[in-house]
Amino acid sequence: MTQPNVDASALGIPELTQRAARDPIVRALLNGESTSLDAPLNFQCRGCGQHCCVNLSTPILITPPEAARILWAIERNPELKAFLEQKGIRWGAMSIGGSTGLPLLTINYVPINTKNPDAGHQCPFLMPVFGGSPDEEPRWLGMAWCGIRAARPTTCRIFPLGRMGSGDGNALESWRYVIASHCPGFEPAKPGDAVPPGYTPPHDSQTVRAFLEGQIDTQQEEEKHFYLTQVIPAFMNAKLYAPTEDNENGTLTERDAVMIIGALLYSPPSAPRDPASDHVLIMEWLNRMRDMPLTIVDVLQKARRMSGEQPQADGGRP
Ligand code: SF4
Ligand code: SF4
Repeated sequence: MTQPNVDASALGIPELTQRAARDPIVRALLNGESTSLDAPLNFQCRGCGQHCCVNLSTPILITPPEAARILWAIERNPELKAFLEQKGIRWGAMSIGGSTGLPLLTINYVPINTKNPDAGHQCPFLMPVFGGSPDEEPRWLGMAWCGIRAARPTTCRIFPLGRMGSGDGNALESWRYVIASHCPGFEPAKPGDAVPPGYTPPHDSQTVRAFLEGQIDTQQEEEKHFYLTQVIPAFMNAKLYAPTEDNENGTLTERDAVMIIGALLYSPPSAPRDPASDHVLIMEWLNRMRDMPLTIVDVLQKARRMSGEQPQADGGRP
């Protein structure tokens, strides 16, 4: 199976350990292997849509701000929206994180061919690229392209690299990188091969740093960093998460509570009319989420006082 890209920033220790057992990229990162930012990369995506989006052996994790951008990308693309609705595709799957006890969202892979289960699976956003004049039948160009390209998560943006960070910063230097896949983008396209618009063959002077600077969206990075370093700790401090096998200290034991928190975390406001406002709206929403546990704790304490129970002393923002 193809090894997917990895952005281990949303994973806690239990998830990392489990993932390392089946993913050599995570093992390499945990073992301290990495490639220097100034090492040559010599990579140019050829739009084949194969190794990065097909038969992935581990899930792609989506943080709430990444989910917001994906939801808005679908809302703004009627063709993609109709495609997902017609096929009945539920693109996300939720589970409970072993480290935080909070909900984790992953992309739900779909069969490549519903009639042939052996054909494997793919990301539901992978779209075949067709060509041909209006007089001809559309013909597949041997290319597939991400249907949510501008909103794709960082994991996908940095492919063919994987990364792991200490969480103490957003700069490129805060992370360690490994090459996660030697996909076709490391070879120049041959004459006659279909290539994406603006394709130039890989060249010797491209470094890991130059590639990352061209791929990473700094606003998306700021949103993700805020969620991981501000919102998650606020929920964990308030002890509103649910206990799991690895973490028995949660105070709300009902799975329903986690589903409610999941709905809060992964239900962003509607897309702004002007996409240039996306970042501002997401940051405002993340700030409200960071403060939300305080409000919930306050409501719970008032309810307990009214019912004569002792209010709990803990809770609040770090
Ligand atoms: S060249 Fe590599 S990164 Fe680009 S679409 Fe193909 S497999 Fe994915
Ligand atoms: S979100 Fe886009 S880039 Fe990422 S796996 Fe899916 S189709 Fe590929």
